[in-house]
Amino acid sequence: MTITKNTQTASPFLTIVCCQHGNEPFGKDIFNLFASQIHEFPGLQLILANEEALAIDKRGVEGDLNRSFPGNQNGNHEARLAYHILPLLQSSRYVLDVHTSVSSCGFLVPIIAKQNASTESIINLLDESNIVLVKPPLADTSLIGNVEGGLSLEFQKTLADERALQTTMNLVRGLYAKTKRPPQDREVFVVTGILPKELLLPPDAKDFTFIPEHNLYPVLLKEASYMGNQGLMATEKYNVHI
Ligand SMILES: [Zn+2]
Repeated sequence: MTITKNTQTASPFLTIVCCQHGNEPFGKDIFNLFASQIHEFPGLQLILANEEALAIDKRGVEGDLNRSFPGNQNGNHEARLAYHILPLLQSSRYVLDVHTSVSSCGFLVPIIAKQNASTESIINLLDESNIVLVKPPLADTSLIGNVEGGLSLEFQKTLADERALQTTMNLVRGLYAKTKRPPQDREVFVVTGILPKELLLPPDAKDFTFIPEHNLYPVLLKEASYMGNQGLMATEKYNVHI
């Protein structure tokens, strides 16, 4: 794990966690981008999380870091990493957790585990109208489920390029400037579990589109990284104006 910090504030204002998953090297581009401009962002903390997994281009070394929180000092590599990362996040006002997805999820899917003033401030600065809210028990072992103002940015891997870097930069600049944009109508998809691989989905199944025969909305469909399953499963949605 590498930590780069702007120490102009006593506690971090924003922490950006990159590369929880070692096969998502876009996170390192984000880390490098902000590390090169860290003097501009008082209280910015950058964490390059799973460098051992990054070195071998694997999701994890012994497990999945984003399923290992709150962590265990005596556990496997990812459990120990989670144990060391979590205290670094506790006093941070905002936490952004950068991922890429191999699913056809569209440019960006914002994921939260709690809807509160901090996560709403982040969402307000994003253009996306579909928001994902992950519920326990899934949320309990995720990074964002263990902090207050946490949001995961899930970029579609094939679209994680200059535009994704720019989107993240604009978001961070907006948080620092305390920008409030006019609220927009959005839908929050409540994820209550993983789509089991045995579940036979219609061939035209699509992210955020209701499948009546199974009474669910697929989310990050065909993201096989979820332990060989088919993605996430939302079972309800609600409207917000954020
Ligand atoms: Zn990931």
